[in-house]
Amino acid sequence: MDGTTTAQTAANLVLLGPPGAGKGTQARKLEEGFGLIQLSTGDLLRAAVAAGTEAGKAAKAVMERGDLVSDDIVIAILRDRLGEPDCANGVIFDGFPRTAAQAEALDALMAEAGSSITSAISLEVDDAAMVDRISGRFTCAGCGEGYHDSFKQPAKDGVCDNCGSSEFNRRADDNAETVAQRLKAYHAQTAPLIAYYGERGVLKGVDAMAQIDTVSESLTAIVQEALA
Ligand code: AMP
Repeated sequence: MDGTTTAQTAANLVLLGPPGAGKGTQARKLEEGFGLIQLSTGDLLRAAVAAGTEAGKAAKAVMERGDLVSDDIVIAILRDRLGEPDCANGVIFDGFPRTAAQAEALDALMAEAGSSITSAISLEVDDAAMVDRISGRFTCAGCGEGYHDSFKQPAKDGVCDNCGSSEFNRRADDNAETVAQRLKAYHAQTAPLIAYYGERGVLKGVDAMAQIDTVSESLTAIVQEALA
């Protein structure tokens, strides 16, 4: 250490939290605000399923049950995407890592690239509210903007506020039964990562039962601090 401080040029964030905590919504906001890349293994896996790749074929039934896809498949998919040049400016990991093996693989991949995880943010929510949050959600097929039957309808019925598209998607696994299994998997396999990042001194907790914009302000402050 020579006593000088240099500003971080890239923030690499992990968003932790159960399904419905708002990881995707908040990642999209940070992407817009800071030019970071949202890297969602759920999105990458859904794309692999849609494309009918070997990984997609192996993942499909597991995802429909609400269980976790094997570490090997997920880490391979993540590694490929992380190797693309746009990730060098900073990444928001959304839904990854979900197991201790994935967290260790991520640390190794970041170290290989001469980088590290700057913050792991735990989005703290009540499980009981998650089933309602997830069951009613849908996204614009054109731009990915998120909506909800009860909490956030488009201003004009059936038309996306953001891009004007009239096509929307609902995820096959966003039903009450699968959500219960996804919450179980979260508590058994992913929640222990809160301690993992706590031990590494990069953990921040945020109350994610608050309004979307309030949560977003907290996350913005964390990223600003990481880049200072
Ligand atoms: P998500 O879009 O993050 O809610 O993920 C949807 C589903 O994809 C999960 O329920 C898992 O079946 C699978 N999945 C996504 N990310 C991972 C991961 N990091 N590890 C294992 N399975 C994953």
